[in-house]
Amino acid sequence: MRKIRKSQTVKLRRAGAPRRKSPEERKKMMSAIRSGDTVPELAVRREAHRMGYRFRLHRKGLPGTPDLVFPSRRKAVFVHGCFWHAHGCKLSRAPKTNLDYWVPKLKRNCARDVRNLEALTAQGWKHLVIWECESRDIRSLEKRLKKFLK
Ligand SMILES: [Zn+2]
Repeated sequence: MRKIRKSQTVKLRRAGAPRRKSPEERKKMMSAIRSGDTVPELAVRREAHRMGYRFRLHRKGLPGTPDLVFPSRRKAVFVHGCFWHAHGCKLSRAPKTNLDYWVPKLKRNCARDVRNLEALTAQGWKHLVIWECESRDIRSLEKRLKKFLK
Protein backbone atom coordinates (compact mmCIF):
# COMPACT_ATOMS: atom_id res chain seq x y z
CA MET A 1 0.00 0.00 0.00
CA ARG A 2 1.31 3.42 -0.88
CA LYS A 3 1.82 5.76 1.94
CA ILE A 4 -0.13 8.99 1.66
CA ARG A 5 1.70 12.03 2.85
CA LYS A 6 -0.01 14.13 5.46
CA SER A 7 -0.46 17.13 3.19
CA GLN A 8 -2.24 14.91 0.67
CA THR A 9 -4.79 13.58 3.15
CA VAL A 10 -5.64 17.10 4.22
CA LYS A 11 -6.30 18.07 0.64
CA LEU A 12 -8.53 15.04 0.04
CA ARG A 13 -10.61 15.76 3.07
CA ARG A 14 -11.04 19.38 2.04
CA ALA A 15 -12.33 18.47 -1.39
CA GLY A 16 -15.14 16.39 0.10
CA ALA A 17 -16.15 18.82 2.81
CA PRO A 18 -19.29 20.94 2.27
CA ARG A 19 -18.56 24.51 1.30
CA ARG A 20 -19.07 27.11 3.98
CA LYS A 21 -22.02 29.36 3.25
CA SER A 22 -21.52 33.10 3.21
CA PRO A 23 -23.81 35.24 5.42
CA GLU A 24 -25.62 36.44 2.27
CA GLU A 25 -26.27 32.88 1.11
CA ARG A 26 -27.49 31.96 4.55
CA LYS A 27 -29.84 34.95 4.62
CA LYS A 28 -31.22 33.95 1.24
CA MET A 29 -31.81 30.38 2.42
CA MET A 30 -33.59 31.57 5.55
CA SER A 31 -35.87 33.94 3.66
CA ALA A 32 -36.72 31.17 1.22
CA ILE A 33 -37.81 29.06 4.16
CA ARG A 34 -39.86 31.86 5.64
CA SER A 35 -41.75 32.52 2.43
CA GLY A 36 -43.17 29.01 2.59
CA ASP A 37 -41.06 27.03 0.18
CA THR A 38 -40.43 24.24 2.63
CA VAL A 39 -38.78 20.96 1.71
CA PRO A 40 -42.02 18.93 2.14
CA GLU A 41 -43.89 21.45 0.03
CA LEU A 42 -41.31 21.25 -2.73
CA ALA A 43 -41.53 17.45 -2.65
CA VAL A 44 -45.31 17.54 -3.11
CA ARG A 45 -45.06 20.15 -5.86
CA ARG A 46 -42.41 18.14 -7.67
CA GLU A 47 -44.53 15.02 -7.51
CA ALA A 48 -47.74 16.74 -8.68
CA HIS A 49 -45.79 18.32 -11.50
CA ARG A 50 -44.20 15.01 -12.48
CA MET A 51 -47.68 13.48 -12.62
CA GLY A 52 -48.64 16.11 -15.16
CA TYR A 53 -51.01 18.23 -13.08
CA ARG A 54 -51.24 21.97 -13.54
CA PHE A 55 -51.63 23.96 -10.37
CA ARG A 56 -51.16 27.35 -8.79
CA LEU A 57 -49.21 28.20 -5.68
CA HIS A 58 -50.33 29.96 -2.48
CA ARG A 59 -53.59 31.41 -3.77
CA LYS A 60 -54.16 34.31 -1.39
CA GLY A 61 -57.87 34.65 -2.11
CA LEU A 62 -58.68 31.27 -0.55
CA PRO A 63 -59.04 30.50 3.16
CA GLY A 64 -55.73 29.37 4.62
CA THR A 65 -53.80 30.19 1.41
CA PRO A 66 -53.51 26.58 0.20
CA ASP A 67 -50.05 25.53 -0.95
CA LEU A 68 -51.20 23.95 -4.21
CA VAL A 69 -54.43 24.98 -5.90
CA PHE A 70 -56.10 23.16 -8.79
CA PRO A 71 -58.65 25.79 -9.90
CA SER A 72 -60.48 23.84 -12.61
CA ARG A 73 -61.05 20.96 -10.18
CA ARG A 74 -61.83 23.26 -7.25
CA LYS A 75 -59.38 21.32 -5.17
CA ALA A 76 -56.64 22.49 -2.84
CA VAL A 77 -53.69 20.80 -1.15
CA PHE A 78 -52.10 21.92 2.10
CA VAL A 79 -48.65 20.73 3.07
CA HIS A 80 -48.51 21.06 6.83
CA GLY A 81 -45.33 21.24 8.87
CA CYS A 82 -45.76 18.71 11.69
CA PHE A 83 -44.53 21.02 14.41
CA TRP A 84 -46.38 24.21 13.46
CA HIS A 85 -49.67 22.44 12.90
CA ALA A 86 -49.23 20.11 15.88
CA HIS A 87 -49.59 16.82 14.06
CA GLY A 88 -48.83 14.75 17.16
CA CYS A 89 -46.27 12.58 15.36
CA LYS A 90 -42.58 12.11 16.11
CA LEU A 91 -41.62 15.22 14.15
CA SER A 92 -44.02 17.42 16.10
CA ARG A 93 -42.68 16.75 19.58
CA ALA A 94 -43.70 19.57 21.87
CA PRO A 95 -41.00 21.96 23.03
CA LYS A 96 -39.78 21.41 26.57
CA THR A 97 -39.32 25.02 27.55
CA ASN A 98 -41.46 28.12 27.18
CA LEU A 99 -44.64 26.09 27.34
CA ASP A 100 -46.67 29.16 28.29
CA TYR A 101 -45.82 30.50 24.88
CA TRP A 102 -45.92 27.38 22.74
CA VAL A 103 -49.01 25.57 23.94
CA PRO A 104 -51.50 28.39 23.26
CA LYS A 105 -49.71 29.29 20.03
CA LEU A 106 -49.89 25.76 18.60
CA LYS A 107 -53.50 25.45 19.78
CA ARG A 108 -54.34 28.67 17.92
CA ASN A 109 -52.66 27.32 14.79
CA CYS A 110 -54.79 24.16 14.94
CA ALA A 111 -58.00 26.10 15.52
CA ARG A 112 -57.18 28.31 12.55
CA ASP A 113 -56.53 25.25 10.37
CA VAL A 114 -59.95 23.84 11.25
CA ARG A 115 -61.65 27.17 10.50
CA ASN A 116 -59.86 27.50 7.17
CA LEU A 117 -60.74 24.00 6.01
CA GLU A 118 -64.38 24.56 6.98
CA ALA A 119 -64.46 27.85 5.11
CA LEU A 120 -62.96 26.22 2.03
CA THR A 121 -65.54 23.45 2.14
CA ALA A 122 -68.32 26.03 2.52
CA GLN A 123 -67.07 27.67 -0.70
CA GLY A 124 -67.34 24.38 -2.54
CA TRP A 125 -63.68 23.40 -2.46
CA LYS A 126 -62.28 20.01 -1.63
CA HIS A 127 -59.04 19.79 0.29
CA LEU A 128 -56.25 17.37 1.04
CA VAL A 129 -53.79 17.81 3.90
CA ILE A 130 -50.39 16.23 3.44
CA TRP A 131 -48.26 16.20 6.56
CA GLU A 132 -44.55 16.84 6.49
CA CYS A 133 -43.90 13.33 7.85
CA GLU A 134 -45.93 11.84 4.99
CA SER A 135 -44.20 13.82 2.26
CA ARG A 136 -41.09 11.62 2.22
CA ASP A 137 -42.86 8.55 0.92
CA ILE A 138 -43.09 9.38 -2.77
CA ARG A 139 -45.07 6.24 -3.68
CA SER A 140 -47.86 6.93 -1.22
CA LEU A 141 -47.75 10.62 -2.11
CA GLU A 142 -48.43 9.71 -5.72
CA LYS A 143 -51.31 7.44 -4.74
CA ARG A 144 -52.95 10.06 -2.56
CA LEU A 145 -52.62 12.84 -5.13
CA LYS A 146 -54.04 10.59 -7.83
CA LYS A 147 -57.01 9.61 -5.69
CA PHE A 148 -57.69 13.18 -4.62
CA LEU A 149 -57.37 14.74 -8.06
CA LYS A 150 -59.19 12.22 -10.19
ZN1 LIG B 1 -46.30 14.41 11.24
